[in-house]
Amino acid sequence: MARFVFITGGVVSSLGKGLASAALGALLQARGYSVRLRKLDPYLNVDPGTMSPFEHGEVFVTDDGAETDLDLGHYERFTGVAARKTDSISAGRVYSNVLEKERRGDYLGKTIQVIPHVTNEIKDFIHVGEDEVDFMLCEIGGTVGDIEGLPFFEAIRQFAQEKPRGEVVFMHLTLLPYLGAAGELKTKPTQHSVKELRSIGLQPDVLVCRSDKPIPQKEREKIALFCNVRKGDVIAAPDLKSIYEAPMAYHRQGLDQAVLDAFGISPAPKPKLDVWQDVQDRVFNPEGEVKVAIVGKYIQLEDAYKSYVEALTHGGMANRVRVKVEWVDAEVFEKDDAGAHLEGFHAILVPGGFGERGTEGKIKAAEFARTRNIPYLGICLGMQMAVIEAARNLAGIKDAGSEEFDHEAGKKRFEPVVYHLKEWVQGNAKIARKVDDDKGGTMRLGSYNATLTEGSRVAEIYGTTAIEERHRHRYEVDTKYRAALEEKGMIFSGMSPDGRLPEIIELKDHPWFVGVQFHPELKSKPFQPHPLFADFVRAAKENSRLV
Ligand code: GLN
Repeated sequence: MARFVFITGGVVSSLGKGLASAALGALLQARGYSVRLRKLDPYLNVDPGTMSPFEHGEVFVTDDGAETDLDLGHYERFTGVAARKTDSISAGRVYSNVLEKERRGDYLGKTIQVIPHVTNEIKDFIHVGEDEVDFMLCEIGGTVGDIEGLPFFEAIRQFAQEKPRGEVVFMHLTLLPYLGAAGELKTKPTQHSVKELRSIGLQPDVLVCRSDKPIPQKEREKIALFCNVRKGDVIAAPDLKSIYEAPMAYHRQGLDQAVLDAFGISPAPKPKLDVWQDVQDRVFNPEGEVKVAIVGKYIQLEDAYKSYVEALTHGGMANRVRVKVEWVDAEVFEKDDAGAHLEGFHAILVPGGFGERGTEGKIKAAEFARTRNIPYLGICLGMQMAVIEAARNLAGIKDAGSEEFDHEAGKKRFEPVVYHLKEWVQGNAKIARKVDDDKGGTMRLGSYNATLTEGSRVAEIYGTTAIEERHRHRYEVDTKYRAALEEKGMIFSGMSPDGRLPEIIELKDHPWFVGVQFHPELKSKPFQPHPLFADFVRAAKENSRLV
């Protein structure tokens, strides 16, 4: 049966709770334990699938097709444990389940209330799979004191009461602001935030304090005294130069030891940290640098492309180079020449996206990469744009485009080289959708198999012809145009096992030009860089020697 760590946050948001949780997961693994990480989000969306990347950052997709918070990406990158649908829940999902049960008559005769109906629903969710791992780490989104968060805090309070003593530990993240005028780190916001927690019945066992300065002994003692924790359980979380430093840095500060002490596990198994030492060495000691352009449209918020940047960093680690990512707004090419913005980059990545805005720019970026022999990785929309470019400029289909944009504009303007898929198979199951289905969760989502062509570039990169990758899209490249494109050198080198859906395209006579309908960035890890990203960065490195 798992032991549980609940991770909460106070004072301000964006303290890096997700990262601290992920790093703790990695440290527990380093001590030989199995872990699973989970996110409980107090917002009312049923899932983040329909939230704007501008507001919420990227939507992370699991193998089993859940659209989740980007923190699940951190969890996977640090622990290598594939997240599942049951590892992410929002207040919206909780209420939607409760209301569904109410309509079905499951609670017949009862008045439905936050306590116990909503809190029970949350607790049921936390219990899922508890017999599978040694530690279950559950992060609560938001900050203590948020109105929406209350049912979650109440649920974890009850949960801890129902478990035998010593099986639940509460870890709370706060901020110690530095006041220049006073020349000191202020502990009052932390005290208030812990007071808030205690007023709802939660006493933190471990306090993780973010600060950009070391915490002097005096302040540690004060925090311990006022927040009712032991001195050794006040853990400093200094600012880091790279997130991949987090496991080693938290270990140095004693986080994993404090958590194991709080569980009364003594003596604690010794940690094996060589993997994280190696990751850190690779991050901090690159032997060169490559410049990669990401041509996107959500570039105001870097979190919108989180996994891409991380996967590129991993690709850099594999090649011992630092990958310097620069953001290029796809819309600039609609007025300007692509060369004006893409000259000097060693490789170009066109990421996924939705909607027509910026797509003509992405098509120009693909053309630039193709004609100038610059390594190009097109992901999802980035593959679709590369195919449209080739259809227009190589196969002579001048009005090639995607049905997505016609749907959006409400009129037919394009030859649908990329079309709306309404029926497909996943494993043995047939899935069907209508154009006007709900927007939430109606895409081709989650893990699908693909078969690669023997002898193709991608088969060589993957070292196999059978792969599984994660998807999140509604539209597909139409195989109707395959022959015309292949004749011009664009090879369909990865297909769905039934041969109906193009999964990968590549250019025959190009140093490195690959488009994938899926999202390889979601599966890349610092200790196991995704082969496509590793080889893409290798090609960028090779190109950097030429330019
Ligand atoms: N908008 C495209 C589609 O739905 C691409 C989606 C994506 O890039 N994730 O097919």
